[in-house]
Amino acid sequence: MTFDDDDRLAFRDSVERYIRDHADPESVMEWDERKEFPETVVQGMAEQGWFALTLPETYGGIGDYLDMTSMLEVIASASITLARFWNINVNMVGGAIAALGADHLKSEMLPKLAEGKVRFAFALSENNSGSDASALKTRAEVGDEEFTVNGTKMWITGAQQADYILTAVRTDPKATRHDGISLILIPREAEGVTVTPIPLLGGHAVRTCEVNFIDVKVPRNLMVGDLHTGWKQLMPILAKERVALAAMCMGAGQAATNLAIEYCTQRQQFGRRLTAFQAVSHRIVEMQNRTDAARLLTYHAAEKLNAGQQCSREASQAKLFASDSYMQTALDGLQVMGANGYSMEYAMQRHFREAKVFQIFGGTSEIQKNIIGKELGL
Ligand SMILES: Cc1cc2nc3c(=O)[nH]c(=O)nc-3n(C[C@H](O)[C@H](O)[C@H](O)COP(=O)(O)OP(=O)(O)OC[C@H]3O[C@@H](n4cnc5c(N)ncnc54)[C@H](O)[C@@H]3O)c2cc1C
Repeated sequence: MTFDDDDRLAFRDSVERYIRDHADPESVMEWDERKEFPETVVQGMAEQGWFALTLPETYGGIGDYLDMTSMLEVIASASITLARFWNINVNMVGGAIAALGADHLKSEMLPKLAEGKVRFAFALSENNSGSDASALKTRAEVGDEEFTVNGTKMWITGAQQADYILTAVRTDPKATRHDGISLILIPREAEGVTVTPIPLLGGHAVRTCEVNFIDVKVPRNLMVGDLHTGWKQLMPILAKERVALAAMCMGAGQAATNLAIEYCTQRQQFGRRLTAFQAVSHRIVEMQNRTDAARLLTYHAAEKLNAGQQCSREASQAKLFASDSYMQTALDGLQVMGANGYSMEYAMQRHFREAKVFQIFGGTSEIQKNIIGKELGL
């Protein structure tokens, strides 16, 4: 994608500058190794105005998904952690509050989000409801003044940093599985909330957690959207998430490709640089080709999103292709770098570990195919 709009180019340049200065490869490697959340850098992102980007103008944003895609592409080329954290906070939860929240919630939460003074996580998945997300069992009894929440959410990214966890709960157990779900903001510090990080293969700088709720009291005014209609309200939010995840895959895929090019043009074997062997150079060409194709699909979905058009199919196509592409690129990148690809000294091992999860979260590759198939009338 090339931008012919000066404002977009200037914004992208500013993102590139900030990321170059604050998320250098050594720091990113250290955050991962020490399982350290990059608090100062995230706060700096808010100060750059990025935590308002996709919010409505009233809250300091421009509601623009092409700029979002471009920004996430750049951020993820250096740090997937920073990009994922932004996506959950601003695109998903901020987006849900902006689109569905009552006026008091918008005016209380969104200015604080824009300034980086409130943090969110998003909790849909449970132990027994992953792909089959609407089978969720976390229960919220509906009282006159408050909800009482019991249950356990799994794989909740950034729950340790969150002030509020936007949680999908079952509010009407008698309704059909899609009809009795609501979305509520649960304060992480509320009595009865326990957050436990889960050891994982990658993405260590922002931990993914189990979140347990025992008799947690949540005021009714923290509901986002309407009672019992949460499932339908979630669908556009998940489509926006898929575009964001695709953007991260192509940004990170480009970084992996660049690393392979840099390494293989320098490394000599049999008296020649590695790229002189066609088996190596063809592999790198395919890496670049896949990344460019992912870029086209992702910006196509982002354009539809930006125009306010239905883009469920395009978002899933982009996420499916970009995540498969990033995984294959990381595999190929590791192979062409030999032992150094496998070594912790180079970033390729991190791409290898982090690419895999993009085929799982935000709806697995198989689920994306199911969505696309349905859109095709299959
Ligand atoms: C690092 C990480 C971060 C995450 N962050 C969050 C978060 O912040 N919030 C949140 O709510 N969730 C989060 N998740 C959860 C994620 O969304 C789920 O893991 C994902 O939806 C898949 O569910 P599952 O793991 O239970 O797999 P399952 O649903 O058990 O699927 C297992 C396998 O079966 C396949 N399968 C299942 N059903 C079908 C079908 N109908 N057709 C074809 N194949 C099928 C799947 O594709 C997969 O290959 C995160 C997960 C990870 C690993």
